[in-house]
Amino acid sequence: MTCSEFLAVLDDVLEDKLDANLRADLEKHLYRCGNCEVILNTTRKTIQIYRSNEVYEMPEDLRTKLHDSIMKKCKESGGCGCAEKKAEEIEETDEKLNELD
Ligand SMILES: [Zn+2]
Repeated sequence: MTCSEFLAVLDDVLEDKLDANLRADLEKHLYRCGNCEVILNTTRKTIQIYRSNEVYEMPEDLRTKLHDSIMKKCKESGGCGCAEKKAEEIEETDEKLNELD
């Protein structure tokens, strides 16, 4: 599964409609791709907030907004977040971590 495949089935994931094969694929992807894991958790939380406010149907514009921000995030992280990181990117991260020390 790729990030865009994940996005395509996100609605089904949230509604627990995935079949076993797809679910296994999804879990594999989430294991490797922190980006999509965050997206899934954030979207779940957003929906929980909506539900606790007794809004059971997610408004269409929220859905669109979520989708847009997800796609943006995926693009910013270089398309698929599960792609292997380039060595220089890892070095960059190391530098940032050192600065934090
Ligand atoms: Zn992903």
